[in-house]
Amino acid sequence: MNTKYVFVTGGVASSLGKGIIAASLAKLLQARGLRVTIQKFDPYINIDPGTLNPYEHGECYVTEDGAETDLDLGHYERFLGVHTSKANNVTTGKIYHTVITKEREGAYLGKTVQIVPHITDEIKRRMLLLGRTGDYDVILTEIGGTVGDMESQPFIEAVRQLQWELPEEDCMSIHLTLIPYLRAAKELKTKPTQHSVQMLQQSGVKPDVIVCRTEQPLTSELRRKIALFCNVKPGHVIQSIDAWSIYQVPLNMHEEHLDELAVRKLQIENFTQPELGRWKEFLDRLQHPKREVNIALVGKYVELQDAYKSIQEALVHAGAANECKVNVKTVHSEQVGEDNVTQMLEGMDGILVAPGFGERGIPGKIAAVRHAREKGVPFFGICLGMQMAVVEFARDVLGYADAASTEMQPGTTHPVIDLMEEQKTTTIKGGTMRLGAYACQLVPGTLASRIYGQTVVRERHRHRYEFNDAYRAAFESAGMVFSGTNPDTGLVEIVEIPTHPFFIGTQFHPEFKSTPEHPQPIFDAFVKAAIDSNLQKKQS
Ligand code: GLN
Repeated sequence: MNTKYVFVTGGVASSLGKGIIAASLAKLLQARGLRVTIQKFDPYINIDPGTLNPYEHGECYVTEDGAETDLDLGHYERFLGVHTSKANNVTTGKIYHTVITKEREGAYLGKTVQIVPHITDEIKRRMLLLGRTGDYDVILTEIGGTVGDMESQPFIEAVRQLQWELPEEDCMSIHLTLIPYLRAAKELKTKPTQHSVQMLQQSGVKPDVIVCRTEQPLTSELRRKIALFCNVKPGHVIQSIDAWSIYQVPLNMHEEHLDELAVRKLQIENFTQPELGRWKEFLDRLQHPKREVNIALVGKYVELQDAYKSIQEALVHAGAANECKVNVKTVHSEQVGEDNVTQMLEGMDGILVAPGFGERGIPGKIAAVRHAREKGVPFFGICLGMQMAVVEFARDVLGYADAASTEMQPGTTHPVIDLMEEQKTTTIKGGTMRLGAYACQLVPGTLASRIYGQTVVRERHRHRYEFNDAYRAAFESAGMVFSGTNPDTGLVEIVEIPTHPFFIGTQFHPEFKSTPEHPQPIFDAFVKAAIDSNLQKKQS
């Protein structure tokens, strides 16, 4: 069978959940026994979102091979349970970078280099790239942005050309739109969808299926109307009604026959009915929790829902695994101080201090760590959160009053967190952090080793600073345990305090590897510890 290509475009509005629709169809095809991956093509000029502020673009998701990518890749991995890679996220910046580098090398042999064909050819080459590996039966490509945006035009043109070049049965186009409900008129409105599809068709792309985001069910009459004016078959207009959880969407799409439409259009023969047993079990546990806990997520980007997406999702997965509803209370680190920390974190069964960069909100993070450590509240620090746990311990337990990370206080006399050696000569910001998966050796008998039940694990990184080994002995004699280190460099990966009910900090980001079907072990243990803490509070 040839590799099949499915393109997902969006219209009417952004944030309709193209990534979730793409991931849901991919999940259904995977559950039918096919080898599937998803890639995202983003029309912005940044080479990758690594240099973007989370306020601009939400979380930066890191892949196993160290790519800094769009957060939709997180959804792809969580739904499919398979790794994505550098090749799965392409931006306009990457495309132009390749074309301009080739031009400088003289590869275009004196030709004028133009958007068509040179930029579109490079887009097409990348769209087909993963298909050439032979590892996949179906490749879904999500085009970022909305149809009609000036910057997405070359991508839409590339889709048009591929729709023309590929055999009819190897290519499918899905367009996601919004059907707004006008409360005053008590009516669903199809006009924006008609316009959006017209715009797509003006570019020469013919959608095979139209997926309509809607708050209210679409009647068959309305579906017919959309089909007629958008030039697709009536059965090819499907609704994506607001779901109680993003993880419910694959089941909703199956009910709407999206996967069936895909296998028919793509003439895929050797498939089974979707096998979603484990997924449904997860959903069932998620929907019927037996208990609940409150967890504080302390960070400086909390105003933006998507800034800590993978952490939020990892808590959902771990909650479901423990039949527990996890109420995440986001706490703005800038608003926390020594004087109000007890009140801000009142009633919390666990405290998670988030990753981050720069000085803003640091005193709040340190105050939150201190509160957790002194009051015996389960604590989990990730990356900057782990580094602040080290700083807090240095200041309060070791008595190094000005201990700090040199990221915030370059002149400190106790640089307990310091720039990694390899970073000292780095001046370029994009793509130069310590990125991607590295091994971590666990010390037998520690909390980390009990949690993982393994001796070596691999987790993903995104940082420039590290624990300063010169202080190791001092920390150890005061009761901090370094339970995980990199086997090649000795770099500290996990810290813990064994006298505390649950206190762990990781230099890596375990949230990137959590999925509904395989919750990440530390998140799972953290939620368990929060449940215990909650029960104890109730008993006393
Ligand atoms: N700013 C810190 C560093 O670069 C932590 C990074 C993070 O939390 N991802 O080391």
